[in-house]
Amino acid sequence: MIFAVFALAAFGSCNAFHSPRPQLQRATRMTLEAKVKVAVVGGGPSGSCAAEILAQNPNIECTLFERKMDNAKPCGGAIPVCMIEEFKLPSEIIDRKVRKMKLISPTNREVDIGQTLLPHEYIGMTRREVLDGYLRDRAISYGAKAINALVLDVNVPKSGDGKVTITYADTTQNSQSKMEFDYVIGGDGANSRVAKGMDAGEYNYAIAFQERIKISDEKMKFYEELAEMYVGDDVSPDFYGWVFPKYDHVGVGTGTVVNRPAIKQYQKAMRERCAAKIEGGKIIKVEAHPIPEHYRPKRVVNHAALVGDAAGYVTKCSGEGIYFAAKSGRMAGQAVSKIVTETGRVPTQAEMTREYIKPYDNAYSPTYVVLDILQRVFYTTNAAREAFVEMCASEYVQRVTFNSYLYKKVQGNNPIEDLKLLFLTIGSLIRGNALAPPDATFSNPTESLKRL
Ligand SMILES: Cc1cc2nc3c(=O)[nH]c(=O)nc-3n(C[C@H](O)[C@H](O)[C@H](O)COP(=O)(O)OP(=O)(O)OC[C@H]3O[C@@H](n4cnc5c(N)ncnc54)[C@H](O)[C@@H]3O)c2cc1C
Repeated sequence: MIFAVFALAAFGSCNAFHSPRPQLQRATRMTLEAKVKVAVVGGGPSGSCAAEILAQNPNIECTLFERKMDNAKPCGGAIPVCMIEEFKLPSEIIDRKVRKMKLISPTNREVDIGQTLLPHEYIGMTRREVLDGYLRDRAISYGAKAINALVLDVNVPKSGDGKVTITYADTTQNSQSKMEFDYVIGGDGANSRVAKGMDAGEYNYAIAFQERIKISDEKMKFYEELAEMYVGDDVSPDFYGWVFPKYDHVGVGTGTVVNRPAIKQYQKAMRERCAAKIEGGKIIKVEAHPIPEHYRPKRVVNHAALVGDAAGYVTKCSGEGIYFAAKSGRMAGQAVSKIVTETGRVPTQAEMTREYIKPYDNAYSPTYVVLDILQRVFYTTNAAREAFVEMCASEYVQRVTFNSYLYKKVQGNNPIEDLKLLFLTIGSLIRGNALAPPDATFSNPTESLKRL
């Protein structure tokens, strides 16, 4: 989930975390004779946050399709504190408030990060069945019409004014039906049917694996406010392993894109790395799911748009996707709502590109780029990982990282610290062989740090 966004500070000019401009500016209000029918497929954070906005527009009839109303998405469930305020989440949604984080290197060197957190700052740990249920119910309470059904096919005309046809299997009545809509938003995750119907193209994906492990109350105390992140070739060749505290158990997991068939071997290594801390634990649930590696080639096509994982909005390096799902859902919902209100008709592809895609990219694409670079550099070799863990001991790195993660914007940059950080980053890049000069022979991270 969280990770080193500190390079943003070092790279100076990035504006990754500027808030997108508000979408519902002063729109001219008009009442339509017939409501615009918008379908949202998927009742996860992205779909529900889109549906919540759409349902509040009197000119829109919003239908939300969800195949499983009590879905427990395989997920670490970590969310930044800003999401709680921004999405008005009640405190009961948060199982645990993580205020400490251990980053553990391939040689088991531990660095405590999160030391700069203020008393009111934390990473919220949620159970997805609770979070998703809350957001979905809220959208329904605003007027979204929920259909408990598996969407089988979505027919999106690629041009012109034709209707979007959705074929679905109604899970409560054991029947198949079709419905027509003016517009569709796909919040149906990594295996999106809406994306398929749009010919939106494929993305590469990682496989993330998680075991929920019930440990004794005594062992649980250790993880009271603490999450752990493990890096090393053993736990993942290109990602990190984690132990996240849940309300009465821990989630232990890892992920990989470069060697997906070996995911169980990496998970075994994860269990071994934290063996003493989870000793005597009982596995109560095993779960795995794809995580998108990058945006889909197309995110809006004629009268259809993708949000959340369906669009590919998970950051590399950290694997964070919940906030970006909720945010993109909200932004797409706001864009559709604004265009319908202003024009009295269904949004076009060009309008949605202007009102949803561009603001989203302006706000977040530098984040994706920087975290992609960080993952390529720091998760490549054990030497690079050791250097990275060492670098995270810096108080400045921690402050910038947490501020970036928790508030989705860079705060309080200090030019001198930034410069020092730039040198440290370059040193780590060299150790990770990403910028290796021809005669570079740095192999010992500590020795290399001294030489910088
Ligand atoms: C193991 C793991 C750990 C993770 N840990 C974290 C973390 O700690 N923090 C974080 O921020 N991110 C994490 N992520 C990423 C995060 O889970 C996703 O980015 C996020 O869930 C995306 O939300 P979404 O609404 O776009 O899609 P989803 O959460 O996948 O929701 C899609 C919804 O659509 C429904 N649906 C799908 N297909 C259909 C269909 N055909 N018909 C009807 N309904 C359908 C599904 O039932 C589901 O409710 C993790 C991912 C994995 C796999």
